[in-house]
Amino acid sequence: VLGYFEQKCQASKRLAEQAATVIPGGIQHNLAFNYPFPLAMSKAEGAHLQDVDGNRYIDFLQAGGPTLLGSNDAVVQEKVIETLRECGPVTGLLHEYEFKLAELVCRHVPSVEMFRMLASGTESVMGAIRLARAYTGKKWVIKIGGAYHGWSDQLVYGMRIPGTGRREAVGIPRGATSHTQESFPNDLAAIRRRLQINRLRGGTAAIIVEPLGPESGTRPAHKDFNANLRKLCDEFGALLIFDEVVSGFRVGLSGAQGYFNVLPDLTIFGKCLTGGYPMAGGIGGRREVMMLLAGGIGGKQTKRAFVGGTLTANPLSCVAGYYSLIEMEKRNAPFLAGRAGDRLTAGLAQIIERRGLPYVVYNQGSVVHLQTSGVLLLNVRNPIQLLREVNPRKHMMEEMGAAYMAHGLVTLAGSRMYTSAADTDAIIDEALNRFDDVFGL
Ligand code: PMP
Repeated sequence: VLGYFEQKCQASKRLAEQAATVIPGGIQHNLAFNYPFPLAMSKAEGAHLQDVDGNRYIDFLQAGGPTLLGSNDAVVQEKVIETLRECGPVTGLLHEYEFKLAELVCRHVPSVEMFRMLASGTESVMGAIRLARAYTGKKWVIKIGGAYHGWSDQLVYGMRIPGTGRREAVGIPRGATSHTQESFPNDLAAIRRRLQINRLRGGTAAIIVEPLGPESGTRPAHKDFNANLRKLCDEFGALLIFDEVVSGFRVGLSGAQGYFNVLPDLTIFGKCLTGGYPMAGGIGGRREVMMLLAGGIGGKQTKRAFVGGTLTANPLSCVAGYYSLIEMEKRNAPFLAGRAGDRLTAGLAQIIERRGLPYVVYNQGSVVHLQTSGVLLLNVRNPIQLLREVNPRKHMMEEMGAAYMAHGLVTLAGSRMYTSAADTDAIIDEALNRFDDVFGL
């Protein structure tokens, strides 16, 4: 495997070495590989990537999830170029596609009556929590252990490094996380206890969850978990926030809320919202709550939850989002990507079984999880224990990821894959042959 990188990836290696002199860590993407060194890509189309050395890959990273149509879709690209020619990248004033995108999101996502675009998933989570506190007048926020909601101070991933007491993300004052609480995945009784205690000390403003389960379903949500959270939120007067940055439009155009038939008060969007184009973020939800962004219903300006952003909702992002969603709808993209995810998962399960390997594979439509680290993490309930299990295996996952890469397969950290509507049966079957080769090493 290392021979592949040394022999076939010389241009990537040179670029990676240069990048490391001016970019901390040599790479700016959390999802990308840096083992043995990051590969640099120069072409992307549909289900394929090509690196600067001319090597081709089947792309199951799909930029971390936003390109449900496949990379660099020609129809969307054409619309973006048209808009760019007409009005440039930004004006700071209202644009027709701002309205058209918002209307489309409201039409597809059942709980969304109003929509506000923002620059990223991280920002949108920050905004939604601010809205929840402004609306309820309460202070606590409950998240689920292991969930990733972006890198804001109050929610940043992995609050402590197990066994050390050190924060995983440093530079955050204790006060910034002092009203964030973490609960075990799927543990409704613990969440109820927190809600009860919080009631006596300022109340719970919101429960925020990834509806597929923490880390895009790495610990999948139990069947009725989301519905039961809805009931708990109603009982205690907290808002339910779904972080649909990954699931939004991907598991269906109505998102995970359509799939589970559970309506949150607020929904966070990112990724698929702009089909991979920049500034992907947004908050949607009930009119009464959302109007606090504009000073309340009637715009009395008595109470306003402020959000902002110079380039937010620029014409290019909006037109990209609008036509990506229109094309996803026309081509039935969530279904096609989900079918590709099913085929990939079933094929991998067969190979794993035939080879008698201690691996686990499962999918939630087009989100495919492949655990090759030899432990069944699904049943680990305690997030601290989970990190203890995962951390020493990170390198193993990296090595698997590098082996996939050397066989022409790009994955997310060697353990997760996003399929797209561009994944034909033939592409999935070719990928399965390559996985079989890696598992045979
Ligand atoms: N929430 C979830 C569930 C995510 O997966 C991510 C990004 N992977 C975020 C929030 C943060 O979004 P962004 O990277 O756009 O800030």
